[in-house]
Amino acid sequence: MSQPQTFWPVESDEAGAEFLVCMSCLSEVFRRRIPMPDCPTCHGVSTYEAFTLDSIRDWGTTELIAKAEAEAAQPAPARSGSLAEAEG
Ligand SMILES: [Zn+2]
Repeated sequence: MSQPQTFWPVESDEAGAEFLVCMSCLSEVFRRRIPMPDCPTCHGVSTYEAFTLDSIRDWGTTELIAKAEAEAAQPAPARSGSLAEAEG
């Protein structure tokens, strides 16, 4: 019952708009990726739309903004397991 969440990578076609927010429950946000197969909170499919962090700060709930900032604080999703090479 506690399977790890799977994500689908998302290419951002708009500069800076790399935060995917669930427009159905407005309580999930991810950076350059969306959960598969559906939203972990409301189980909506294809409910995610891209926004900038500034935009989310403008209209998001405190909880949503905190999640977005936590995502922003993480390094960008690794492409092919070359994390070790990033060190010095
Ligand atoms: Zn949702």
